Amino acid sequence: MDEQKIFLITNGIFEQECLKEIAKDITREFNFPVSIYEGSLDLREFYDEVRRQYDGNRLLKEIEKMDFPDAIKKIGLFRNDIYIPILTFIFGQAIYKGNSGIASLYRLRNEQYGMKPDESKLLDRFKKVIIHELGHTFGLKHCYVPTCVMRSGTYVEHLDQKNHTLCKTCRSLVDR
Ligand SMILES: [Zn+2]
Ligand SMILES: [Zn+2]
Repeated sequence: MDEQKIFLITNGIFEQECLKEIAKDITREFNFPVSIYEGSLDLREFYDEVRRQYDGNRLLKEIEKMDFPDAIKKIGLFRNDIYIPILTFIFGQAIYKGNSGIASLYRLRNEQYGMKPDESKLLDRFKKVIIHELGHTFGLKHCYVPTCVMRSGTYVEHLDQKNHTLCKTCRSLVDR
């Protein structure tokens, strides 16, 4: 069998340098190599005309349907504003102990909150969301350690307060 990898499925344009950096951090946290795959979903099909946002539950299902024999986990990366029915927006979501998740950088941009664009902050936040969602797929629940990446949060300020690493306890709990 081929070596198991974590797949990042890009939906939209992402800078190669950023993807490489994200991949490096993922491997450091979860010990699996990362493969980057350019997705070809037609996102218009997931657009909700009334909410003017994209349907996060359906996007997650699409990622789950994608079949890569050597993928232990798959995370769909998006640039779109994503919602689920009970929330105004989401940064990402994942199937607990499943193999799929999604993450979007749309709501992570400073511009969204009337602040100056900051590419390095954006990448930092995006990494945290991706690692957090991967953590759920590896069986981690929300953590109360303030700096742990598994700490839950609704606002970018919460993301900025935590690290992009798992705390000791979460690390020891990762399902292998
Ligand atoms: Zn979470
Ligand atoms: Zn933790």
